[in-house]
Amino acid sequence: MYQARSRRERGDVGSIEVFLVCLRGDVIMDLGIAVWSASARERMSHFRGGAGVSRSSQDPVDSAVLWRLLALHAGHRIAALYEDTKRLNQVFEDGDPAMIGGDADGDIPVDVFLEGWREADPDVPRLNAHGLLRCTVDDGRLWLGAAHGRSPAEVSFFRAGVAGAPGNSTYDRVNRSLWRFLADHVMHELTVDVVTELPATAIGAVGGESFGDYVAGWPG
Ligand SMILES: [Zn+2]
Ligand SMILES: [Zn+2]
Repeated sequence: MYQARSRRERGDVGSIEVFLVCLRGDVIMDLGIAVWSASARERMSHFRGGAGVSRSSQDPVDSAVLWRLLALHAGHRIAALYEDTKRLNQVFEDGDPAMIGGDADGDIPVDVFLEGWREADPDVPRLNAHGLLRCTVDDGRLWLGAAHGRSPAEVSFFRAGVAGAPGNSTYDRVNRSLWRFLADHVMHELTVDVVTELPATAIGAVGGESFGDYVAGWPG
């Protein structure tokens, strides 16, 4: 009962939650409540978090969980899905995904999910590969950074910044770009690609824009 659980935590009725799911059906994360765009009704603007967090992108724990999830599910298809949609219900019919931060049997406590993960750990080798979040519907692309890990099949984290810069989950414009991309592509199937070759223009960019330009003026 994913809705009931998250509703109880947030004490919010009548709003629509958005969940990030791996389409293999193994894991699910609550991204927050959909906030609609002021200029275009029924178009999503950003995510509101729980417990007094007005923007999910500013929740350091949710952001860490999100970046960790992308690394662990490199190569998989994912989607940000509205609650009570056929697509999301199908994920639950097909499998029994573990909710990160949920409290049902089989769910994964946040501290367990993040245990031992050191984002931007200098001892984790940088692979000769990039992470790319790609939309299968409109071909939108978000560069996730250089893949770090033991092998492309075992990515520990993606890193957009150079040495000394913060890890992605605390690198504000990079982190906010990811949250915005998920809002912009809600209900679209995305792939977390790990690629060895990328055009130079794709690096450090969301589509043809820099991270800074992409989130400039965005309320999330
Ligand atoms: Zn997966
Ligand atoms: Zn899309």
